[in-house]
Amino acid sequence: MSPASASRPPELSFHGAAREVTGSCHRVVCGPHQILVDCGMFQGDEESERHNAAPFGFEPSEIDAVLLTHAHLDHCGRLPLLVQRGFRGRIFATAATRQLARLVLLDAAAIAEEDAARARRSRLRHGEEDGAGQPLYSTLDVFDTMDQFAPAVRYGAAFEVVPGVRATYVDAGHLLGSASVRLELEHDGRKRSVTFSGDIGNPGRELLPDPTLPPPSDLVVMECTYGDRQHRPYAESVEELLDAIHATFRRGGNVIIPTFALERTQELLYVLHRAVERGRLAPSTQVFLDSPMAISATRIFARFPEAFRPPVAKLLRSGGDPFAVPGLHMTREVAQSRMINAITGGAIIMAGSGMCTGGRVLHHLRRHLWRRESAVVFVGFAAEGTLGRQIIDGAERVEIFGETIPVRARIHTINGFSAHADRDALLAWQHEVGPAETVLVHGEHEVMRTFARALRKAGARAVHMPRRGERLRLDDAEPGEASHG
Ligand SMILES: [Zn+2]
Repeated sequence: MSPASASRPPELSFHGAAREVTGSCHRVVCGPHQILVDCGMFQGDEESERHNAAPFGFEPSEIDAVLLTHAHLDHCGRLPLLVQRGFRGRIFATAATRQLARLVLLDAAAIAEEDAARARRSRLRHGEEDGAGQPLYSTLDVFDTMDQFAPAVRYGAAFEVVPGVRATYVDAGHLLGSASVRLELEHDGRKRSVTFSGDIGNPGRELLPDPTLPPPSDLVVMECTYGDRQHRPYAESVEELLDAIHATFRRGGNVIIPTFALERTQELLYVLHRAVERGRLAPSTQVFLDSPMAISATRIFARFPEAFRPPVAKLLRSGGDPFAVPGLHMTREVAQSRMINAITGGAIIMAGSGMCTGGRVLHHLRRHLWRRESAVVFVGFAAEGTLGRQIIDGAERVEIFGETIPVRARIHTINGFSAHADRDALLAWQHEVGPAETVLVHGEHEVMRTFARALRKAGARAVHMPRRGERLRLDDAEPGEASHG
C-alpha cells in the first residue's frame, strides 16, 4: 500500500454478492491495512465459473487477514484461490466454521479436479492437444488454506485483526458456527463501526438459536436474499412437509428432497426424528441420505452441542442422536447409492446439491421427475440459472445429463425451512442495529430494490446497492447524500 493512502478514510469495496446472491467477498481498507470479509464462490451457471477464475479486483498478497462469517461455499469457496494467488495472512473463523469449511473446500477441490480431468480427456478424444484445463484450485491449495487459519474465534469476544481494526463475532443463527461480524475501525483518531451481517438466520427454527443482534453500528453491510417475501411459520412448514410425504406415499412414489449438505440436511433429519417420536411418521419409513458430504457434516454437527437450542443440546450431551431416524440409510458409496434405484415408492431420498447443479440428486431426479407418483420437495434457495430454479419456476421439461425429462412429479417449495431471515426479520434486524448507512449485498437485484424500498419506507437513511468492484468511503457523507441505486 502506498504511503499516500495511509491518511485516507477507511474504505469498503465489494467483490462478489454485489446485486447477486453468491460470491460474497467484501474488502475493508483501513490505513495501511486491508482485510476481507468472506471470499466466496460464485455459483449458478457457466458465467459464474468465469467470474470465479477472474482476477479478484485487488491484490491477494496485500490482504492482511480474512474474516470468515460461515462455511457455505458462496462465502468461503474462493479462499484456496486467494492463497494460491499470494494471500499469506490469517483466516479468522469460529471452530465449527473451520471444521465445516475444510469439508466444503475439499469437496469443491475434488469437484474442480474431476471436472478438469474430464475436460482434458474430452479434448484428447477430439484430437486436441492437452492445453489448459487446470482446476480452479486443488486439494493441496485447500491444505495450504487450512494452515492459515488463526486460533478459533469465540462469539462475543473482541479481538484485534490488525492494528486499528477490532472484530467481534456474534451468532448469526444461520448455520453451525455462523456469525455476523462487527468491526471497530480506528484511523486518524476517528472511530467507525461497521457490521457485516453474514447470512442472517431464520428465527424460530428447531436446531439453531435465533440470530444474536450485534450492537448498534454506524454502517451495516447486510444480506437480503429473501428481502421481498415472508416465510410460512416453521410449524406449518413441518406439517406441509409431512403432508407432502404422506400424499406421495399414497400415490406410490418417492419423495426427493434436494438438500444442502450443511444445516438443511441436519434440520430435516431432526424434523423426521421428531415426527417419528410424535407418531406422525412410521418408524419403518425408509429414509436415504445420499450425500457423502452431508454424512460428514452431520458428524461435525454432533461435536458442537453448545451451538444448539437447549432440547437438542441436552440430547447430544446425554449421548443421544438428534439426527437419527429409525429407517435411515446413509449411503457414501456409489454402489450403495445405485441400490436406492430399486425402490420405486415409499422412500424419502435426500441428496445434494440443493440447487440441483450437480451431485447425486441429478440421478434421482432423472428417475423420478417424470413420474406422477413421485414428488420433489425444495426446502432451500435455488439461484437463477440453476436446474432447481427451473423446476421451482414450473418448467415443463428439463435437461439432465443431456436427456430431456418431462416434469410430471408433484413439486413442493417449502420456504419455512429456509436458513435465511425473511423480509420482516431482515427489517427488524436492520432497525435494531440502527445504522446511518445500509449497504445491501447478497440478493438478486430486483429483490434488493424491493427490500431497499421497504427499508426507506421504514425510515432507513442512506441505502446503497453497490455494483461489483464499487468502492464506498467511510467519510462524513451526509445521510442521503451518498444514497443511490
Ligand atoms: Zn449461508
